[in-house]
Amino acid sequence: MKVLVLNSGSSSQKSCLYEIGDTLPDEPPGCIWEGKIEWADDKAEYSIKNSRGVSRKDLIPAASRAEAIERLLHSLWSGETQAISGPSDIDVVGHRVVHGGPQHFEPAVVTAEVKSAIESVSVFAPLHNRAELQGMEIVAKLLGSVPQIAVFDTGFHRTMPLSAATYPGPYDWFEQGIRRYGFHGINHQYCAERAPQLLGKKMDSLKLVTCHLGNGCSLAAIREGRSVDTTMGFTPSEGLMMGTRSGSVDPGVLTYLMRQRQFSGQQLDEVLNKKSGLLGISGISSDMRQILAASKNGHERAKLAFEIYVHRLQSGIGAMIGVLGGVDALVFTAGVGENSPELRAAVCDNFGFLGLRLDQGKNAQSPLNADISAPDATVRVLVIHAQEDWMIARECWNLVQTATTRVSR
Ligand code: ADP
Repeated sequence: MKVLVLNSGSSSQKSCLYEIGDTLPDEPPGCIWEGKIEWADDKAEYSIKNSRGVSRKDLIPAASRAEAIERLLHSLWSGETQAISGPSDIDVVGHRVVHGGPQHFEPAVVTAEVKSAIESVSVFAPLHNRAELQGMEIVAKLLGSVPQIAVFDTGFHRTMPLSAATYPGPYDWFEQGIRRYGFHGINHQYCAERAPQLLGKKMDSLKLVTCHLGNGCSLAAIREGRSVDTTMGFTPSEGLMMGTRSGSVDPGVLTYLMRQRQFSGQQLDEVLNKKSGLLGISGISSDMRQILAASKNGHERAKLAFEIYVHRLQSGIGAMIGVLGGVDALVFTAGVGENSPELRAAVCDNFGFLGLRLDQGKNAQSPLNADISAPDATVRVLVIHAQEDWMIARECWNLVQTATTRVSR
């Protein structure tokens, strides 16, 4: 079965094609085709490659997002990569949908009803949900009636108890859908499944804290494979300090800015989501690599940005361990989590009292999908490579298999 996955972000479009046989492999297979567009100012970087080593990179005009995505998908069968012979080779298309709102947590076949539900909650995640809906329209235009499946980033956190999912505001907030949903669920779930394999233990015996640290950052507390708490909430703005997002701040700061400084909702959104976090504090970059390099050169605000990032992580991890009543393993994943030994060492430093100790040599190598704790550590530390696209492909495969079994019965 050929499964095409679309991961549509506010300023990027990633896509890949998987070939899956009659049974799911234990390890994620590589893609047979991969494409990516990253928009910046008035240009976009366009790149495609297939598993036969054919690749191409271009700078293209940023003007039409839809046109660029059409070219990307068209390259699957055109002379650009010829990964497949034509659109009809694709059996199913999976989409990462950031916000499923109160109605959609489980993966769902895309219908008019599902699209309108995604549209109705796009005010909660405007940059993401609208890009995802556009991806669905383009697929329908280019690939006709191929089944499309939406996989929700909020889905994994549906098991959070009400005490974690409900804000302590007026009760009717919850009834109006103003509640904690949590995000990055596709990857937190992947880590919840991968960690027991790496530890040689059963999922239902483990308490995990997973740290997804990319441009966006969140923690999840996972008991017996199920999310019981997470740091993001109603939107992906809550919780940890991130690349350009502040994470949690006293709501009083917002009302102060609105009353005393006449900030509009849009200005608040802009400052909290695009001008805060590592970028806002350092004044130089949202990229952890640059923050670390500048700190080493004595840049005081870059140093402070790193220290706040670590402080917020330590306090968040402590809270998650408290909710779980203990912890067997701490998992680092996504761009910063997978690649920064400095960050992992700084975060883990305070948790020695729990029996958590890093093997400094292994940590320095940043091995993917590995245990990097010291041999005598009683709480393990893992690095797990994020595999969101593979998780989406797998959910599509599962849904198609279930539908086929039902029809053939
Ligand atoms: P996204 O959330 O957009 O999927 P990623 O998971 O790819 O992002 O993470 C991107 C971030 O990873 C970058 O902003 C960068 O700060 C960080 N990163 C990548 N490589 C390194 C590295 N070697 N050291 C520290 N940080 C890194």
